[in-house]
Amino acid sequence: MSDEPEHTAKVAPLRKPLPCPECGHPSHREHYPFCSDRCRTQDLSRWLKGSYAIPVAEDESNPDDDGRF
Ligand SMILES: [Zn+2]
Repeated sequence: MSDEPEHTAKVAPLRKPLPCPECGHPSHREHYPFCSDRCRTQDLSRWLKGSYAIPVAEDESNPDDDGRF
């Protein structure tokens, strides 16, 4: 006969905050994994502009990445 809520502990676990890919601030729940809507928009626009295209790699002249010891 108690009115006290019994299931208050049943809360979705928080996601671990990540540093915002745009500015490095801790991510916000609502804008995960970004810290704000602004950073999310920036990231999206970057995608749309194709700035995330893989840059021309210079891996042909890397003696340390030969795959052998
Ligand atoms: Zn940010």
